Amino acid sequence: MNGKIIIANWKMNLPILSEWGKIKGLDGVEIVICPPFTHIGTLTKLLKGRNIKLGSQDCFWENQGAYTGEISPLMLKNLGVEYVIVGHSERRNYFSETDEMIAKKTKAVIENGLTPILCIGETLEQRKRGLAKEIIKKQLERDLKNSKFLILNSKFRNHIVIAYEPVWAIGTGNYCQPKEALEMIKFIKYFLNSKFHILKSRVIYGGSVDSKNIRDFLKYPEIEGALVGGASIKIKEFQKIINEVSKPTKTKSAPK
Ligand code: PEP
Repeated sequence: MNGKIIIANWKMNLPILSEWGKIKGLDGVEIVICPPFTHIGTLTKLLKGRNIKLGSQDCFWENQGAYTGEISPLMLKNLGVEYVIVGHSERRNYFSETDEMIAKKTKAVIENGLTPILCIGETLEQRKRGLAKEIIKKQLERDLKNSKFLILNSKFRNHIVIAYEPVWAIGTGNYCQPKEALEMIKFIKYFLNSKFHILKSRVIYGGSVDSKNIRDFLKYPEIEGALVGGASIKIKEFQKIINEVSKPTKTKSAPK
């Protein structure tokens, strides 16, 4: 499963930090941990030499100024962060983040040389009404509108991860069937290529991924990684996920 990326989103949880000095990364697979802002400094020290990168769960779109309570991409970069989650459904939902705001954040992250992990996904109601692809298309169009030229610029190429995260699958244990996730991910890639000419993004799946189901998603070459929430908070389970990814696999081509 070389070339895949596994991203941990700890959300607002408090794992026992000292344990994380024992986590083992993998050669050929990128592992990224996105802790709360307050844990970034400690983790930078604990993860040294462990083949694991750091991400953050959000950021603001300006680099500095009178924005009480905000954290900028430049501040994160100075802490050694390489990835930033933007547009997570919990931020869209609980903090009323709009596509307009997400588009500004995505651009600021890229401009600072960090990689955005842009989260998109439909609600259950939208899926039931047959609107899933329409919603995904709109989110991509709106969230990437400020970044298209940056992403195409060779200096920034490769600098985007799209996480397909159906809202109904997040934190519910009710994960999207891998074949359905595959279909949506193929659609996202097609749309990015045809509309934005973005050939080098990575598209991953998120929503109730754990050590038991991760291989069912990652066996498809088109699903280039996973964003893991609940199952990433306990070190034993997250290490199991990493170990699952390290097992050899036969590459299965996607159904036509
Ligand atoms: C997430 O928060 O991005 C996520 C995928 O959560 P969970 O794995 O708990 O569904």
